[in-house]
Amino acid sequence: MRDNSSPNKIVIFQKLKRQVEKCQRCPLHKTTKKIVFGEGPINAKMMIIGEAAGRMESLQGRPFIGPAGKFLDKLLNLGGVNRKNVFITSILKCRPTIDDRNRKPKKEEIEACLPWLRKQIEIINPKYFILLGEVAFSVFFPGEKLSKFRGRWIEKKGKFYFPTYHPAAGLRFPKIKKILEKDLKKLKNIL
Ligand code: URA
Repeated sequence: MRDNSSPNKIVIFQKLKRQVEKCQRCPLHKTTKKIVFGEGPINAKMMIIGEAAGRMESLQGRPFIGPAGKFLDKLLNLGGVNRKNVFITSILKCRPTIDDRNRKPKKEEIEACLPWLRKQIEIINPKYFILLGEVAFSVFFPGEKLSKFRGRWIEKKGKFYFPTYHPAAGLRFPKIKKILEKDLKKLKNIL
């Protein structure tokens, strides 16, 4: 997709990226290697939202480039979605760790980081959202169960959300891998 966003929008987005890269809203900035803002066209119609940066992502400052990212690429191929046409980011822009292993984001980390995602959404203004995993799902649908809603489009205030499992879970559990493959195939022809 050619990025023909207005120069003003590009400047605003670049400014936001610099702000996020300097963020100290929670203690994670002290331990993460690089902040992972996200990547993709500023005028993307679709946004993919994961949970948090992992090891590879925080080393390189790019989203979904580790094992879960490789699997996500395969899933997007199944759904006929070109990664270049979507904006990919996560709820947390830093990597949450315990003993150098990934851990689940804490509630206060999610709350601290969410304003950045909200600003990204405001600027990009995508129509479609793919929500990967419980963390992303519960930000948009608090109090609801992912298992009840996954694998279908849900409309809310003029936006369309497609929740499913996180690709990292698909790498651990063959059953979830199959469900993810089935779910992502439903994205065919959406863009
Ligand atoms: N998992 C996520 O949720 N986001 C990334 O960027 C990488 C792995």
